[in-house]
Amino acid sequence: MSPKNILVLNCGSSSVKYELMDVDSSVILARGFVEKVGMEDAVINHHYIVEYGYNDIKLVRDISTHRVGIKMVIELLQDEEHGVINDINDVYGIGHRVVHGGEGYTDSAYIDDKVKNDIKHCIELAPLHNPHHLAGIDATEKLIPDHHQVAVFDTAFHQTMEEDTYMYALPYELYKKHGIRKYGFHGTSHKYVAQHAAQLLEKRLDDLKIISCHLGNGASACAISGGVSVDTSMGFTPLSGLMMGTRTGDFDPAVLLYLINKESLSLSEVSTLINRHSGLYGISGISRDFREIIKNADKGNKRAQLALDMFVARIKHYIGAYTAKMNGIDVLVFTAGIGENSPVLRRMVCENMDYLGIEVCEEANNSCDEGVISPENSGVKVMCVPTNEELLIARETARIIEGLNK
Ligand code: ADP
Repeated sequence: MSPKNILVLNCGSSSVKYELMDVDSSVILARGFVEKVGMEDAVINHHYIVEYGYNDIKLVRDISTHRVGIKMVIELLQDEEHGVINDINDVYGIGHRVVHGGEGYTDSAYIDDKVKNDIKHCIELAPLHNPHHLAGIDATEKLIPDHHQVAVFDTAFHQTMEEDTYMYALPYELYKKHGIRKYGFHGTSHKYVAQHAAQLLEKRLDDLKIISCHLGNGASACAISGGVSVDTSMGFTPLSGLMMGTRTGDFDPAVLLYLINKESLSLSEVSTLINRHSGLYGISGISRDFREIIKNADKGNKRAQLALDMFVARIKHYIGAYTAKMNGIDVLVFTAGIGENSPVLRRMVCENMDYLGIEVCEEANNSCDEGVISPENSGVKVMCVPTNEELLIARETARIIEGLNK
């Protein structure tokens, strides 16, 4: 049987991330990152499989648009020297990461004119992301028109939330008029780690109450009961919920009214304040990088320590809330840059949580790359599970394409 190669594309404002993998074996044939799209000195970092391991090359090229960037990626994948496939027909399908699918998408979708139109409609809700995803979809369609394309939405996994969870206590008309409600993000990651945690535990996902903490520069928690998202901490935008690298997370929105009045802030200044100048960076005054926060807190820097303590306190808050919401918790998962790599953070979060049955085994916590880090007899399985959004996007893409032929 020939390999089922899926090309995963994630198009940002000036970048294209790509990964080509055989979805059945999860073997990555190539992955890379095109930076500075729109500039003459754009860079392609290409990592590709060779006979014994992987090679890396870096190319600098004039890449004026996403279309030029994707064309180069397609050529590079078939390149005599650095390529990994003989022919583009060795690619079974293309999966696009799409941040916002609005209320219409509870699942990934085969891309046709209607889906493209719906993604376009959601530009209002995700102005920094959806336009670039669409540019990537259009470019791919023009370059390889016979290939199947699938959209995998960050919001789709959370569409199972109940109305009393996703509604905000604002006038109902605003929901009808502008779609103002909680959507949630990081859905691909939460779904992947929940599935993978169940697999590692050799349990049925349907039988588990899981709280997943995706802790990277962006951070969110998700309550997953029976395999579906019942609540998540991000909202109408990826600003709410947990404290993040440079974003506030939850706070009283009336603070903004007060500041607009006191400091005559413009809309864009308010946006910069809450999205780029807050979070770990805003409190510590040092960095958004969690490693820097830990390093400086260790050296006795009080504001770095405060940033760390606040970051931890908010995660604990959501674990408590979601345990109550699901009437229990079986599995607590840590994932993404901080969740996967910081035993200190995981220990701090799980401290004084024995009332809920949450504790970590120090040895397992300090040495774990993937798996259970709670003591054997612990009521709740605490786990470290590296996320793999590309793999989930590839699997979803293959599933949707296979569904076409049934
Ligand atoms: P993004 O949301 O940009 O995808 P990542 O998931 O890559 O973010 O996570 C980035 C965060 O992970 C940064 O705050 C970084 O400091 C943190 N991080 C990465 N490696 C480690 C580590 N070994 N220990 C602690 N934090 C880490």
